[in-house]
Order: sequence, then structure tokens, then C-alpha cells
Amino acid sequence: MRDDVVAASCAGIVQIYRAASGEVTALRGIDARFPRGALTVVVGPSGSGKSSLLRLLALHEQAAAGDLYIDGVATQTASVRHLRRLRHRHIGVVLQRPTHNLFDQLTAAQHVEHMARRRGVAARVDVDEVLGEVGLEHRRSSRPRQLSGGEQQRLSVAVAAVGTPSLVLADEPTAELDAANGEAVVGLLRRAAERGSAVVVNTHDPHV
Ligand code: ADP
Ligand code: MG
Repeated sequence: MRDDVVAASCAGIVQIYRAASGEVTALRGIDARFPRGALTVVVGPSGSGKSSLLRLLALHEQAAAGDLYIDGVATQTASVRHLRRLRHRHIGVVLQRPTHNLFDQLTAAQHVEHMARRRGVAARVDVDEVLGEVGLEHRRSSRPRQLSGGEQQRLSVAVAAVGTPSLVLADEPTAELDAANGEAVVGLLRRAAERGSAVVVNTHDPHV
């Protein structure tokens, strides 16, 4: 696989947490590649390390050992400034609980505008089109509190995927949704992959 089609790759990734009860090895030598244009589903029971891997890919944590490349950047040795730029411009994250992805005080349209600006793509993003793609064209002025859980999570995916970042990472994105909204969210994530992002979805749900 050519390197320019791989958004993220890792080799020998180890993650260790220090808990009161001692050390927990959450990841024990993970090798993986996440190509653009593909939706990769990471499946495993609770406690198997899915969220730990996602936090590393999101640059929310650093690995105890191993190599992680994002957009060809060796993240273990990159500067804090460089990592922040990668995080802001090239990585979108969707967490399980919709409200954790959204700001109480921003409307749906403002969420999309905010992320488009942060990614430097505001000039080519049509906010109404983005909201239309996730079925929220009539909700542009609504704040998260005024949206259903399914609507909130569809907005979360729209924001994470706006501007087609290199990586769209979703941690159990359907866990709090009914079947219909869950399917809609998976469909939107698939669409983000078709547009060219590398999409990674963690789940323990066999339907996903
Ligand atoms: P999953 O998402 O597949 O349920 P996690 O990545 O959350 O798995 O957890 C993997 C292992 O790491 C579990 O044993 C969990 O208890 C442990 N773990 C995760 N985060 C921490 C943390 N911050 N401190 C201590 N242990 C943790
Ligand atoms: Mg988890």
C-alpha cells in the first residue's frame, strides 16, 4: 500500500496504565494500517483496548512504546506544536456520548462553522449542505439540548468529518442510539470514508 494512501499506521504499539491495583497493559504490540477511503471496524469485548488505541490515534495520549505515524509524521518525536496542528486539522473524533462531542452554547450551524475554520476549510464548506447530508437542514439554529440523541450524534459525525480530515475516529458511536439512528450514523461514517477519510470505528456491537 502506498504511504500516501495510509492516513495512520502503527507498529509494536504498547500502552500501559498505572492503576491503584498496579500496572495494566492495555495494548501489547499492535501493528495496524488505516488507509484513506476505508472504514476499519475495531471489534472486541469490553476491556480489550479499543478505546486505548483510539486515544492514541486521536493524539490524546502517547504510547508507552512503539511507532505511530499519522499523515507520514512520526508522532513519538514530533513537536507539541506539530501534534496540535495534526489534531486540529486532520483528526476528527466521535465519542460514545453525543453531548461529549458538542458545545452546549453553539447551534448546529455554528458547530460546523467552528470546525471548518479550525481545519482551514471554511471557504469551501457549505454549512447548509453539510447539515443537509446528515438530515439536519431544518435544525441549523438548534443547540444540542434541543436535539434528540440521534440528531446530536449525526451532528457529531458531520462535525468530525467536515472537510474530509485524514482520520475520523469513532468510539462506540452507536452505543446510546436506537437501531435506526445507529444505522444512520454508520451510514454517515461510511460516507466519510467514501469521500477519502480513513475512518476507524470501535464497537462491541456485531451489527456495526
Ligand atoms: P475497551 O475500549 O475495549 O473497553 P479500554 O481501552 O477502555 O478497552 O481498556 C483496556 C484496558 O486498559 C482495561 O483493562 C482498562 O481497565 C484499562 N484502562 C484503560 N484506561 C485506563 C486508565 N486511564 N487507567 C487505568 N487503566 C485503564
Ligand atoms: Mg471503550
